[in-house]
Amino acid sequence: MFQVNDNFQKLPGSYLFSTIAKKVSAYQQENPDKNLIRLGIGDVTQPLAPAIIKALHAAVDEMGAAETFHGYAPDLGYEFLRSAIAKNDYESRGCDISADEIFVSDGAKCDSSNIQELFSADCKIAVCDPVYPVYVDSNVMAGRTGVYDAKTEMWSNVIYMPCTMENGFVPEFPKETPDVIYLCLPNNPTGTTITKSQLQEWVDYANKNGAIIIYDAAYEAYISEDDVAHSIYECEGAKTCAIEIRSFSKNAGFTGVRLGFTVVPKDLKRQDVSLHGMWARRHGTKFNGAPYIIQRAGEAVYSEEGKAQLKEQVAYYMKNASVIKSGLQEAGYTVFGGVNAPYIWLKTPDQMNSWEFFDYLLANANVVGTPGSGFGPSGEGYFRLTAFGSYENTVAALERIKKM
Ligand SMILES: *Cc1c(COP(=O)(O)O)cnc(C)c1O
Repeated sequence: MFQVNDNFQKLPGSYLFSTIAKKVSAYQQENPDKNLIRLGIGDVTQPLAPAIIKALHAAVDEMGAAETFHGYAPDLGYEFLRSAIAKNDYESRGCDISADEIFVSDGAKCDSSNIQELFSADCKIAVCDPVYPVYVDSNVMAGRTGVYDAKTEMWSNVIYMPCTMENGFVPEFPKETPDVIYLCLPNNPTGTTITKSQLQEWVDYANKNGAIIIYDAAYEAYISEDDVAHSIYECEGAKTCAIEIRSFSKNAGFTGVRLGFTVVPKDLKRQDVSLHGMWARRHGTKFNGAPYIIQRAGEAVYSEEGKAQLKEQVAYYMKNASVIKSGLQEAGYTVFGGVNAPYIWLKTPDQMNSWEFFDYLLANANVVGTPGSGFGPSGEGYFRLTAFGSYENTVAALERIKKM
């Protein structure tokens, strides 16, 4: 008789976003006349930029002709895309990353969860708290996290690095040395980030302690401040201690298109084993490449036309972020984020906990957001709003919140 992977049974029961969906649909059933505005979404809403649509059409046409048809893509991605990434995301920022250190994939969620396969089962992971839930859950599935304590909402074998108002949402070096450190900067959910010199300290810490940093830069395109690194490889020594994960989802609206990449530098080794070689082997065995059509669309992200159009798209969302941030501040809230990320993280008022504020906001403003406690114990007492809605809805939502 087969046995299932018990680790899956350890995952806590309810998934945050399905709990929210249930609550919202119950509210709507009782109040069918209310017009809800959703500022909880972690998905883009603007259509794909014209330069990308053009590239998609052209690639589709190529696939319909015998001489330009493409079958399986190279495991690591097409050269045209990898060199566009190397040039635009790395060379232009002074990072010494070559095209053959870039692994094209179908998104950062897969990469950030699959990357843990490179590490032994007893590696100790450290995560920021609050955290993008994928990092923890994928390690739970791999049996690396120990026992879950429902009361503290913590795993016995995970090192939590609280990021709160008190430390400016900057993770502090943990007492116990971790093996694998997950950093998501700019951060989802807090919308905050750290300076380049603070990131350099993390790189130095990892090199000194023989740890590795998994650096999720999915929100890189939203950085507006000069002293924030766009890539961890802007820091000296990062090539011997960091893997960087990127996505086309948030900077180019590819959430329904699917494209991402991971950088595993050739200098990244443990004893004599190359992590670059391991990831190449893993890709070769378990992944058959991102579609040709989509990789051509990714190439268009780096065209002059594409860059200009996407700059506007990011600016559109960041205008929403500023509407949310200034609106909340006017209404007397304590607010974070929204400067280098499309997320606004607010302190819940009047000692409400995160779910109490969720209900309060839903009932009194008909606005849906995300309770901070859903991202980890240190998220309790906070709440996330996102800038991914339409401008009109965002403005209307803030008018309602101000009247509460
Ligand atoms: C949205 C998001 C991603 C992107 O995932 P894709 O699979 O590329 O769509 C990755 N990491 C974080 C933290 C995110 O919020």
